[in-house]
Amino acid sequence: MKESLFSSPASKPVSAYVHIPFCHHHCGYCNFTLIAGRNELIDAYLDALALDLESLRAPRLVSTIFVGGGTPSLLDARQTERLFDLLQTWFPGTGVREVSIEVNPNDVTREKASLWKSFGVNRVSVGGQSFQADKLKILERNHSPEQLRDSLVVLQEMFPRVSLDLIFGAPHETLEGWKYDLDSATELGISHLSTYGLTFDKGSRFWSMREKGILEAVDEELELKMYQLARQQLMNAGFDHYEVSNFARNSEHCLHNETYWNGGSYWAFGAGAAYFVDGRRGVKHRSTTTYIKRLMRGESPIAEEQVLTEEQVLRERFVFGMRKLRGVELSWLEFAHFPELKQAMQTQIERHVAEGWMEYDQGRVKLTEAGLWISDSLWPHYF
Ligand code: SF4
Repeated sequence: MKESLFSSPASKPVSAYVHIPFCHHHCGYCNFTLIAGRNELIDAYLDALALDLESLRAPRLVSTIFVGGGTPSLLDARQTERLFDLLQTWFPGTGVREVSIEVNPNDVTREKASLWKSFGVNRVSVGGQSFQADKLKILERNHSPEQLRDSLVVLQEMFPRVSLDLIFGAPHETLEGWKYDLDSATELGISHLSTYGLTFDKGSRFWSMREKGILEAVDEELELKMYQLARQQLMNAGFDHYEVSNFARNSEHCLHNETYWNGGSYWAFGAGAAYFVDGRRGVKHRSTTTYIKRLMRGESPIAEEQVLTEEQVLRERFVFGMRKLRGVELSWLEFAHFPELKQAMQTQIERHVAEGWMEYDQGRVKLTEAGLWISDSLWPHYF
């Protein structure tokens, strides 16, 4: 089907996201919605999640389900069964192409992996971050390089698709260290990699440590070299760089994330989970305890919701689409009802093409190599 802004109606969700906020401990760089060391809340959380899912009113057909966190692999067998029973009730199997779960290496056992598989999981995303013991320690990860390797071997034996997250630019990291991480992943035969530069988000412990001079970020020039090295090395190893931070072999793109990048609609359940349904963009309460309490009291778990105008939807879909390396079709700019928007977008694109951040390519516009690195600073110009 020809790709167009209107080919996946915003009113019809094609994906579902479920957030499991529990973690073994709180890694210093992390600013996600999570709660560490409070496993006694998991059963109450699943009760709340069941109530949150009831807002669907009837079972729905989706093509992708993503169970993210937090650390979903932390759930024990009984809790995992309860979670997936809920998902199978509300999102029956017909038409589901991809069921992903995020896991921590030190949770992976053959027993747990078999359980995930028995519930239709066909893609596992591993929060590995590095194969270097000293870097894992700095990042405050609680797994060893050996645990990461072992978990990847088991998961690759048992699942058709395994993805690995790697972080670059950790304090004191060298280009050689980063090369070792990339080499280790490719040697293990990983077919999907997500690479992220370490960020010091306000509110995270790393942010305060950097403010106090306890931690130092690597300089930006080195970080750029690391990104370029990942691109060069992974593309040489047969990976397709298909999104700013994502690389896949054998076209094993993450279908769930493609819903986001294609501007599709998706439901989301759980603390801090963000959804986009019927042109409404919203987020559930970020505090796990507030999320549980509100649902138990029969109140809405929604913290914020905004109804987007059609014009806002178009702007967002352009920006999300541009995260993909193939960019977007220029025919997307034929916004029949919005001549002023079309003119403004075209002018801005031409400016970014002239500045070397974007380029035209066979009826499409896409980021250039230079544009990839600074892409986050380009997007505000389109809103
Ligand atoms: S990085 Fe992952 S494991 Fe660490 S605290 Fe954040 S969600 Fe939990």
